[in-house]
Amino acid sequence: LTILGLESSCDDTGAAVVRGQPGKAQVLSSVVEGQTSLHAAFGGVVPEIAARAHAERLDDVVRQALSQAGLGLRDLDGIAVTAGPGLIGGVMSGVMCAKGIALGAGLPLIGVNHLAGHALTPRLTDGAVFPYLMLLVSGGHCQFLLVRGPDEYRRLGGTIDDAPGEAFDKTARLLALPQPGGPSVEAEARNGDAKRFRFPRPLLDREGCDMSFSGLKTAVLRMRDQVMEGNGLRQQDRADLCAGFQAAVVDVLAEKTRRALALYLAENPAQPMLAVAGGVAANKAIRAGLETVCADMHTAFTAPPLALCTDNGAMIAYAGLERFARGERDDMTLAARPRWPLDRSSAGMLGGGR
Ligand code: ATP
Ligand code: FE
Repeated sequence: LTILGLESSCDDTGAAVVRGQPGKAQVLSSVVEGQTSLHAAFGGVVPEIAARAHAERLDDVVRQALSQAGLGLRDLDGIAVTAGPGLIGGVMSGVMCAKGIALGAGLPLIGVNHLAGHALTPRLTDGAVFPYLMLLVSGGHCQFLLVRGPDEYRRLGGTIDDAPGEAFDKTARLLALPQPGGPSVEAEARNGDAKRFRFPRPLLDREGCDMSFSGLKTAVLRMRDQVMEGNGLRQQDRADLCAGFQAAVVDVLAEKTRRALALYLAENPAQPMLAVAGGVAANKAIRAGLETVCADMHTAFTAPPLALCTDNGAMIAYAGLERFARGERDDMTLAARPRWPLDRSSAGMLGGGR
């Protein structure tokens, strides 16, 4: 199967072509156009600006993806598009673009859950075999998922407030560092002393796999203001605050992963495997923390390459490929869904973040 995938649920316009079979596919091309500069002046993603930019850019991004793959529309077997969850305007832009192409080229269409795209990425990059435990950590989400099949997810726990990516972004804003906050906070943290400021480790004393990150950014604000009372914020203060904040995130994610893994392994002892996905999985300190937990628990660890951690069309094309391979497809009534939990039994539960 050769599938074109479109992604436009947040602030990245993505298109990609993936070819192969479930568990054995390769990325022929993947084009991502970010919008960081468009939103820079506003301190966050502005939904209307994002939707307009997606609508303007999708055609061109699709054209680039096809040309880099050396293929035309007639070489495709189907079109997959993010149908949610996400910013509704952007999702609608993608869905309309995909419908237009599907109708014009007479191709089957399938709507993909953006989170399924992230959650199935290890199948694309590593040929991971079901089941596995997934930690999905991004700008809008943070949850542990037991992945049993392309459409079978059980949520074991997640954030009850902010997602870690959001906390990184807000921390960067408080310290006047550039967006997206994750990479800039990580870079600062490298020169910082994580022990200088005492950051809390929220919810570690509570049982289970739920997490909380909103208190950490409040702690950054409080400590920043304390430091600024003195001499203003110096370079070293900033680095120390970033290091302390990041160390707290690492500790919380690592400890909760330990618990989620114990639950998972009790049910699936023959398949010891943890995969991480989402933009925050790009963080080296977080990866290292998770690797240590996995080594302790004799569990294989996999993390996609950075370009496939953040939002991209390839993960959508691949998730679509899994569904096309099972004979599923949508029709022209496909609708954009701003909310769309992966675990049907957890609909309405907290832990989505955004
Ligand atoms: P979602 O997938 O939940 O809809 P999103 O699309 O905003 O959210 P991604 O594109 O997967 O999320 O990831 C973006 C987030 O990842 C941003 O919040 C960004 O700060 C964070 N991030 C990127 N690189 C790093 C890093 N090195 N360390 C920590 N966070 C990072
Ligand atoms: Fe995402």
